[in-house]
Amino acid sequence: MSKRILITGAAGFLGSHLCDRFVSEGFHVIGMDNFITGVEDNINHLYKHSNFEFIEHDVTEFVKIEGKLDYILHFASPASPIDYLKIPIQTLKVGSLGTHNLLGLAKAKQARILIASTSEVYGDPLVHPQTEDYYGNVNAIGPRGVYDEAKRFQESLTMAYHRFHKLETRIVRIFNTYGPRMRLNDGRVIPAFMGQALRGEDLTVFGDGMQTRSFCYVDDQVEGIYRLLFSDYVYPVNIGNPDEITILDFAKEIINLTHTDQKIVFEELPKNDPLQRQPDISLAKKLLDWEPKTTRSEGMRITFNYFKSLPEERLYKREHKDFSNHIKR
Ligand code: NAD
Ligand code: UDP
Repeated sequence: MSKRILITGAAGFLGSHLCDRFVSEGFHVIGMDNFITGVEDNINHLYKHSNFEFIEHDVTEFVKIEGKLDYILHFASPASPIDYLKIPIQTLKVGSLGTHNLLGLAKAKQARILIASTSEVYGDPLVHPQTEDYYGNVNAIGPRGVYDEAKRFQESLTMAYHRFHKLETRIVRIFNTYGPRMRLNDGRVIPAFMGQALRGEDLTVFGDGMQTRSFCYVDDQVEGIYRLLFSDYVYPVNIGNPDEITILDFAKEIINLTHTDQKIVFEELPKNDPLQRQPDISLAKKLLDWEPKTTRSEGMRITFNYFKSLPEERLYKREHKDFSNHIKR
């Protein structure tokens, strides 16, 4: 009988790619999502597989699964700054109550559980690059605090279940990851710049653009998560691509890639926007024999081709149009 895995956040960007991977590896995959930031388009192609099923459910409510369960991947959570600023309470709840429910389910089923954490647990980091033993620099009451603290609580609760209940737990600290199936209008910098290029708009760089990020292509991220799940390491592991770039240089790269002649315009830097971010992946290399393989130029080309292939109405759907003020408070 095949191994059964529950993947929460299945209709989201990362969750849907994880469903693909585990379906193709022959697992029986149960996807779960409440579509708060995900879309069914991301999983429609999976329904034809007999080893995929989907349950629409909010994981902050009791999670019930019939039969045995071997693994849980908890990926449900808004992940884009404009999403979690729009739905701050749900963000706190899914990281805390949702995680509690899934840890309880893992305990009841004696399943191994991997929790999606984030580089945001390091906040606006004072240590660079970020190593797993850095405690971080987070403003709990700032606008991003709803996400950062939910994730920090999630890590803490997970370690408590491991220590107290001897649960098999894994924690991945994901650094900025991108690729096909991101929402064009989710506000994250890659879909934002690519959407602007496709619509012929100026590219909006926040602040002076000197803040840095390090972008990891989704297939590399999925491989790292896959290896971590099957490792025996219980402490957090950074998975990301250390190739760091300033946002201003990145905007220029996008202009070159898209062969557009858009201008760059500068807008106010959102509060507590981290000034630098780069994963130290020594631990993942040693432990998992993992490192990213996809260069930024290759990953961006694939991602841009995906956005270009979307129907025009999705290009102009601006659900967060009047929301930008919230980010800046
Ligand atoms: P996403 O918004 O595309 O996916 C999240 C999914 O979770 C969505 O489908 C949403 O509907 C679902 N969800 C949210 N709350 C839920 C709830 N209460 N019940 C059921 N489903 C719920 O975001 P993503 O980029 O795919 O991120 C997935 C996970 O990875 C998140 O936990 C996020 O914190 C983490 N992460 C992502 C990145 C990244 O760069 N993509 C970086 C760090 C961490
Ligand atoms: N950013 C930007 N213009 C945009 C969207 C984002 O300059 O239109 C910047 C943002 O201020 C941050 C970086 O790009 O410094 C990455 O932002 P994103 O929302 O992708 O995720 P974050 O890494 O901040 O969680």
